[in-house]
Amino acid sequence: MARDERSVTPQSEDFSAWYNEVVFRAELVDRGPVRGSMVIRPYGYRIWELLQADLDRRIKATGHQNAYFPLLIPQSYMEREAEHVEGFAPELFTVTHAGGKELEEPLVIRPTSETIIGEMMAKWISSHRDLPLLLNQWGNVLRWEMRPRMFLRTSEFLWQEGHTAHATAADATAETMLALGFYQDVAAEVAALATVPGEKTPRERFAGAERTFTIEGMMRDGRALQSGTSHFMGTNFAAAFGITFTGESGAAELCHTTSWGMSTRMIGGLIMTHGDDKGLVLPPALAPYQVVIVPIGRGEQAETTLSAATELAATLERAGIRAHVDGRPQLSPGFKFNDWEMRGVPIRLELGPRDLAAGTALMSRRLSYPQPDAAKRAVALDRAPDLVATELADFQAMLGQRAADFREQHTAVVNSWPEFVAAVAGGWALALHCGEEACEDEIKAETTATPRCIPLAGEPEQGTCIRCSKPSAYGKRVIFARAY
Ligand SMILES: [Zn+2]
Repeated sequence: MARDERSVTPQSEDFSAWYNEVVFRAELVDRGPVRGSMVIRPYGYRIWELLQADLDRRIKATGHQNAYFPLLIPQSYMEREAEHVEGFAPELFTVTHAGGKELEEPLVIRPTSETIIGEMMAKWISSHRDLPLLLNQWGNVLRWEMRPRMFLRTSEFLWQEGHTAHATAADATAETMLALGFYQDVAAEVAALATVPGEKTPRERFAGAERTFTIEGMMRDGRALQSGTSHFMGTNFAAAFGITFTGESGAAELCHTTSWGMSTRMIGGLIMTHGDDKGLVLPPALAPYQVVIVPIGRGEQAETTLSAATELAATLERAGIRAHVDGRPQLSPGFKFNDWEMRGVPIRLELGPRDLAAGTALMSRRLSYPQPDAAKRAVALDRAPDLVATELADFQAMLGQRAADFREQHTAVVNSWPEFVAAVAGGWALALHCGEEACEDEIKAETTATPRCIPLAGEPEQGTCIRCSKPSAYGKRVIFARAY
């Protein structure tokens, strides 16, 4: 059967093709000229700005201050923390020439900023009164990417990186969990994702960290996406960069540091969590346009409905609702409906001459759940701001519920190898594991699944490894899944 030219590959046929078509067709991105680079178009960038504004508010409300550090880092800085340089070496971009001459010391383009911020922290902290030092940076980083994928893995991406220094391990641990909480809350309240907070197993830790925590989201194909991470560094970076303070006793002590980040990858997460065969579905909190108004009519009527639509949009905007009028005269209403469905706009209002005469507009939602409900309903124009606001709040909650239900339905507690294999084929497996790397490798070789996290909420449990039957590690079940 020939497919409508405007439609995309169904998710069930090829999820990866679906994703690649949607990011371009929804005009979120374009390909950059350099391999692995991504141009974020205005529609995609607006989503990022909305996410950024929400997270920034949370970061500032808890006493952190934004600062900005240079993009170029002396190569020697990277080499000071052994695990850090080893972990990042394969991904580094290095600048060897400047001003037409070879540099005496090559410069690294930041893959992350622990080193340069560590250097500054050492300079700025001297007494216990300087602690805690709570910094955040919004910026870009570069990491060479062999298998690029828009938003998920691009050589350059946008993010925030929090960096903090504390007097005690307990304070730094509390900070690590506070930041993880920002991410879980942003994911749940704004992006409508149902993520699981947990701790990474040793091999999945950030290079140089003592403990790494993550929020993992389940995508519509059952794979996991790491959507934000928070790291407790212990004194590793403090020792490498000389970040010390004079304690109350007068003795010099090493600080305990943390770092934490959330990136444009999150946009990939919301595309793959909410999207369907018609394209993108955006949670209202992050939708550049929460409502699109399509005026309908020909000739003189077109002018009347267009001006009424413009007036309606202004009324909605005044009520804090992001509304857009699609007044493109050359396109049919049907084309516009498909276009805005592809671009994920939560609510559509149609305004034709008969609606206008009745003082109403026809409202339809991009998606309904759990009951599919394609019915349009009339809304009174004079009550539109209230009715639309209620509908948007309901839509936001509905998406969160749909994501949580999907995750629940595709997560299995498994106690045998065949159960494990079946579970990770289309979702997540909660399994006991021995914690040994060789055993993880075998599991990965056979199923491509890897340990995603040890859920914080997991109940204490001991037993034998799902794969090799040795005694289990971690004291809890581990989430295994195929991951992005
Ligand atoms: Zn094992």
